[in-house]
Amino acid sequence: MNKIQLSKSSYCSCVQCEKILWLKRFKPEFSKSESSEATFEKGRQVGELAKGLFGHYTDIAYNKDLSVQLEQTKELLQIKPNIITEASFSWDNNFCSVDILKNDLDGVEIYEVKSSTQIRDIYIDDASFQHYVLSNLGLNVKKVCIVYINNEYVRGRKLDLNGLFKIEDITDLSLQKQSEIKDNIDFIRDFMKSHDREREPVKDIGKFCFEPYSCSFWDYCTKDLPSPNVFDISSMAISKKFEKYCDGKISFKDLEKENLNIKYLEQIDFELNDREPKINKNAIRDILDSLKYPLYFIDYESCQYAVPEYENTKPYQQIPFQYSLHIIKKPDAPLEHKEFLADVWDVNIIRTFAENMIKDMPDDGSVIVYNKTFEATRNKEIGQMFPDLKAEMERFNENMVDLMIPFRNRDYYTREMKGSYSIKYVLPALYPDDPELDYSELSLIHKGDEASNAFLSLKDKTPQEQEKIRNGLLEYCKLDTYAMVKIWEKFKEVTDV
Ligand code: SF4
Repeated sequence: MNKIQLSKSSYCSCVQCEKILWLKRFKPEFSKSESSEATFEKGRQVGELAKGLFGHYTDIAYNKDLSVQLEQTKELLQIKPNIITEASFSWDNNFCSVDILKNDLDGVEIYEVKSSTQIRDIYIDDASFQHYVLSNLGLNVKKVCIVYINNEYVRGRKLDLNGLFKIEDITDLSLQKQSEIKDNIDFIRDFMKSHDREREPVKDIGKFCFEPYSCSFWDYCTKDLPSPNVFDISSMAISKKFEKYCDGKISFKDLEKENLNIKYLEQIDFELNDREPKINKNAIRDILDSLKYPLYFIDYESCQYAVPEYENTKPYQQIPFQYSLHIIKKPDAPLEHKEFLADVWDVNIIRTFAENMIKDMPDDGSVIVYNKTFEATRNKEIGQMFPDLKAEMERFNENMVDLMIPFRNRDYYTREMKGSYSIKYVLPALYPDDPELDYSELSLIHKGDEASNAFLSLKDKTPQEQEKIRNGLLEYCKLDTYAMVKIWEKFKEVTDV
């Protein structure tokens, strides 16, 4: 039997868990990958930009037939010194492409590019695998480096690649890993030889299923666990969940008498015993009494650019690009709606966002949000970026009321919330089977990350596609604030106000 081809990404998957490789090969249909096209696109953009870090380079284009890439690399390696991007190598059926290869007269330097703002152990495994392949091919590997994003970088009018990227020399770490890589490769090949399609490996789940990445086969590997189980407990640390799992305390029945945080026990009790909703009317009345008209129900959407798109912003800074605002001016006044959705080409996007908000919320009423940390932090950042808007941003924050608090404090709890106080759990729990409040009924965008990815994608779309996306964004954000109005109404209903 031919040796299987091992790529650096397969190698890295196996460093996490060898069963991933087997499942990818024989049961890929069970993978539930969380990483979206947008995440992939972010990584691709960063990779493309980094190629220019050391000046002129020659790129090896992707080819389905890897031998074409290998041949081209061989030719380019002869022309020293030069810089080759995506240089491709294969030794003993171990294959890798190097993001940036500095091909000097006396040897080569490997640069692995990551769109992250910090170095993780798995990146070192990744680069060390490349080191292993190249040195076994007889190349003198002088240096191995990780190129990653400098989160302190503030963009000026022009992008400065040397400011945007940090380079860390990991040559010593990579050298230390070389014998481990050989052992790992031997292990992986033996493992795949002894587990063909018919012989599924037996491997219990563990903390490694979430480190360095959440495994996309988690649902498959846990399909035989009782439901609900310890992994369904909301907000419990993963280490604590595995501690209980390893003790054989897996189902809610096993867990109900365990010494756990009161909130976890409450979730278990409500779900096991089908408890009636718990409502602390006084706590909810306190929230209602704190409100002053006009009531501004507001929600922001934001996105993050790995490579800062706008002047004076940092990598991965949250860029608010949209809000929906429902307004009730006085008791019994009709519900009004205002909204803002930025033009993706607006170079002053954050300022335009803030100025519109100031115009739409002129009075000193309550600014009602769900999970105030997010909106309050954006307002603070806007105040720091634009000192002339600081007072208005502070006014909004001082007037802010968080509708999430009663749910977080369990002053209002139902079994359907499943221990969560996210609006996506709370809303259907308060209004079951109401299609008007059902996010899954929305045409295009159903959650926050879809909204930010949709906005990020706008520049590459046709005018028709842009219009469709913009309508989807407006529809989604509007439901978020309408949901808050409905929560406020429910608070009044259950407290007889
Ligand atoms: S869920 Fe865990 S055990 Fe299953 S393949 Fe993934 S990492 Fe391995």
